[in-house]
Amino acid sequence: MAKRIQFSSTGGPDVLEYVDFQPQDPAEGEIQVENKAIGINYIDTYVRSGLYAPAAFPSGLGSEAAGVVSKVGAGVTHIKVGDRVVYAQAPLGSYSEFHTLSAQKAAILPDSISFEQAAASFLKGLTVYYLFFQTHKIKAGDTFLFHAAAGGVGLIACQWAKALGARLIGTVGSDEKAALAKEAGAWATINYHQEDIAARVAELTQGEKVSVVYDSVGKSTWLDSLNSLQRQGLLVSFGNASGPVTGVDLAILNQKGSLFVTRPSLNNYVTNLQELTAASQELFSLIASGAIKVDVKEAQKFPLSQARTAHQTLESRATTGSSLLIPGK
Ligand code: NDP
Repeated sequence: MAKRIQFSSTGGPDVLEYVDFQPQDPAEGEIQVENKAIGINYIDTYVRSGLYAPAAFPSGLGSEAAGVVSKVGAGVTHIKVGDRVVYAQAPLGSYSEFHTLSAQKAAILPDSISFEQAAASFLKGLTVYYLFFQTHKIKAGDTFLFHAAAGGVGLIACQWAKALGARLIGTVGSDEKAALAKEAGAWATINYHQEDIAARVAELTQGEKVSVVYDSVGKSTWLDSLNSLQRQGLLVSFGNASGPVTGVDLAILNQKGSLFVTRPSLNNYVTNLQELTAASQELFSLIASGAIKVDVKEAQKFPLSQARTAHQTLESRATTGSSLLIPGK
């Protein structure tokens, strides 16, 4: 028997249970991975709370981890037992000592990248990749707004923007987070508990405002995001940390300057092995070169058994950068 986190009803962190389970053997086209480090993502809290409820109970949780391939199903040719891999789009259940998934969802990990670095950066880095290269193309010299800049996705975005020569204005919830975002490469920061976001964006851009806003906070920043945009600007609404945006009257997009809004997700941008390989190579090369650092604070490496505490910490906005679950810790 192995250990995993499972839940049998949606709710707060207390619904998460650390239980024995029998790892699944891989079917044709699948691999089984012995997880060494597991990525915690804000989306996992949406699944647990019921915002994106699982199809059936009891359910596993999590979709990202890095580890060693322990079994390979029939027909898998590009991955073998013993390979070091990372994955980010697995079926629910990566909060586990072992997980079984399609081989098409796994990338071979370069030796220079540790399991912890990989699990801390894969889902979040692939997200920044599609946000900056596909949803909207960020170029050198661009100035744009990015919410929650000191979070897991946020600190990678700050570093990637700097590597591109772009000016990221990052919103944050504390002065400590502002300092971290600046250190990671943000051009400017706005503490949204102390400053009016749109007014500060206008000030920082000499009244021009920005052509694109990346907003993962959702409900509480929706209007600030629209108000920070130039005419015909684009709001990329990619998360709901403060709650989902609902009940939008489209007329507001006209009133605020003929704006565009998109609601993207990773699974609609990275849809096959070819796209996964292209995106992961960009990410891995920036990590290998040191342009993107993804080291996780010791206090945010939680034993797998402590997933409840990990979720409480993430949802209380106490974390910076990425957090991990470590099996056997
Ligand atoms: P983070 O580490 O960024 O944690 C969320 C952060 O959001 C908090 O630290 C907090 O930072 C900020 N926040 C603002 N308002 C609230 C609130 N009311 N409650 C809690 N947090 C709040 O998480 P991740 O890096 O895992 O994910 C970041 C966002 O990106 C999430 O919304 C996630 O859903 C989204 N995402 C979307 C993807 C997609 O493809 N659509 C893929 C991956 C992630 P502060 O204290 O500075 O305000």
